[in-house]
Amino acid sequence: MTQRIVHDVTIECIQGDIANQPDMDAVVNAANAQLRPGGGVAGAIHRAAGPGLDEACRPLAPIKPGQAVITGAHNLPNKYVIHCLGPVYGVDEPADELLANCYRQALQLAEHNGIESIAFPAISTGVFGYPLEAATRIALGVMAGEAQKLTKLKRIRCVLFQPSDLAVYNQVLDELNGTR
Ligand code: ADP
Repeated sequence: MTQRIVHDVTIECIQGDIANQPDMDAVVNAANAQLRPGGGVAGAIHRAAGPGLDEACRPLAPIKPGQAVITGAHNLPNKYVIHCLGPVYGVDEPADELLANCYRQALQLAEHNGIESIAFPAISTGVFGYPLEAATRIALGVMAGEAQKLTKLKRIRCVLFQPSDLAVYNQVLDELNGTR
């Protein structure tokens, strides 16, 4: 597993299912604006969390691209779910800033809620069409940049569904390690 430690915060990348990360305090949902179940990450999270999560989300919707909101995790093996709406690539602009806002807001929400560990999927890289390598540079760049401001949050995990996506994350993380 490729890891980077920035200011006492471990950033790690693994292959897996975001809905099955029992050792993490919080998992991040690649949500839709209405915070409804849907497909991909949102489908997996809502299926595992059960209908209570859908109910908890209703009063918080709709959210805007770049925004993050927090709920309990219901039947998931975590304490919290942080729901982020990534940009739809080619539609929501500026896409890079909106995607960075997702990661930044999620990390800040985690910090404010005393969360020590959080797992992220590759937001916007599925149905929303964001090219993976560009999205990866934004995700890992924000994580490394925010790490110095984090005091409670100690562990950030990137969970990639596909091995080829994990390889891209590992390569970008290696590059960041090289510039340490
Ligand atoms: P978005 O609508 O933000 O693009 P998606 O859920 O369609 O979100 O996909 C985001 C990324 O998450 C894609 O790279 C997809 O392969 C991956 N993915 C899909 N299901 C899971 C899962 N259960 N765990 C982790 N990653 C997943």
